[in-house]
Amino acid sequence: MSVRVRFAPSPTGFLHIGGLRSALYNWLFARRHGGVFALRIEDTDRSRFVEGAIENLQRSLEACGLKPDEGPFIQSERREKHLQYAYDLIEKDKAYYCFCTKERLDEVAKQQQALKHPIMYDRHCRNLSKTDAENRAAVGDEHVIRLKVPTEGSIKMRDMIRGDVEIPWAQVDDQVIIKSDGYPTYHLAATCDDHDMAISHVIRGEEWLSSLPKHLFIFESFGWQAPQYAHLPLLLNPDRSKLSKRQGDVAVEDYLAKGYLPEALVNFVALLGWNPTSDREIFTKEELAELFDITKVNKAGAVFNTEKLNWLNAHYLKSLDESVYLLKARELGFLDEDVVRMRAAIIARERITVLSELPALIEEATTVSDYSADMLVWKKSDASTAKTRLKSVRDYIAEKDEDWFGKPLAMEEETRTWIAGQGFSNGDTLWPLRVALSGREKSPSPFELMFVAGKDESLSRIDAALEKMA
Ligand code: GLU
Repeated sequence: MSVRVRFAPSPTGFLHIGGLRSALYNWLFARRHGGVFALRIEDTDRSRFVEGAIENLQRSLEACGLKPDEGPFIQSERREKHLQYAYDLIEKDKAYYCFCTKERLDEVAKQQQALKHPIMYDRHCRNLSKTDAENRAAVGDEHVIRLKVPTEGSIKMRDMIRGDVEIPWAQVDDQVIIKSDGYPTYHLAATCDDHDMAISHVIRGEEWLSSLPKHLFIFESFGWQAPQYAHLPLLLNPDRSKLSKRQGDVAVEDYLAKGYLPEALVNFVALLGWNPTSDREIFTKEELAELFDITKVNKAGAVFNTEKLNWLNAHYLKSLDESVYLLKARELGFLDEDVVRMRAAIIARERITVLSELPALIEEATTVSDYSADMLVWKKSDASTAKTRLKSVRDYIAEKDEDWFGKPLAMEEETRTWIAGQGFSNGDTLWPLRVALSGREKSPSPFELMFVAGKDESLSRIDAALEKMA
């Protein structure tokens, strides 16, 4: 059997981080089994359609390297087909017209609520005569079409992650499959499309597991072979509530705009519910695809741990080529072409977890705060030592050429050797130097600061400090 999977988001605005995981697991499964990964846009809920959402979804997927092999298929374009399927189900006595008004349904729901019963359609129209119902529908009586699911017994289902699952039919509603606007609901459209697209495996969020009986009922009613199903564990906030916008970002584009790297996001969401090994966290998606085993995905909800995402992102940031790192920072608007700020971005790389932290660190490494002469004196030293050390170090670096300032590591090594050779201590020499360069109690090292400022600016800051102490 050839493997064909699909990612089937609704175009409600943006790619949700949970959607990214669904898309990724489908992609991994397709790559692992030499199959096809398709994109299907489930846009039959016209009230939730957002302009530009499809392009936005595609952009986010592509940014994360998950370009679909097929699609996007647009579900609403198959509306006639879905209607025909619904009429076929009526013919097979597996669906029926329902003329109940919203008022009546609200009333029923209210009564059920008062009795603490689950809210379900009371099947009022289920036994109308088919001819009567068809006549009413033909003259334009407002109606929906509902599934006629069994009322007794239970359905046994197999999930690739959960194993056997059994749900009593008594818990399954007579689901609306065609709404009063003539559009199919997700349940009918997705099921028929999965069949028509020859989808072999459906990998989606756990929230759809309770709908599986209805979907299987449709497959069975048509005599179609159903795909295999895998329902992915819920994503949770650290307090174990369902992952929500209120507790932080959920849109992939927002993460990307802040300077989370696609590789880090993909690596992170891959591990939300699955880890191929017990001793490793860093994987490319190609490595994950080789190891992917859908049956090993966890059943329990996966906590969205922002610290882990930050840790992964810091790792990926450090492994970028310097030029790529600078380019990304520029593309996202956290940096410009200014040489001094670029050097500041280079030294900041070790300290950031996400590129959006750059502007503050660049500001810190490129400006001198106002400070008083006292600050130049190291705590175990005195004013006159501070002054003579700063003077010596000024004379020492004034001899160096501009290139020397471009290599912070070598600069540090040589300067420390020189300090030792002079019989100075690191503290009484480097403290005044660092304060002269930054004006701050805390800052990057003097070598990093000299690398950022360059020779002339470094000397002029030191001169200004010496003047303060004069
Ligand atoms: N359109 C559904 C969603 O947005 C897809 C569910 C499925 O994959 O069957 O979650």
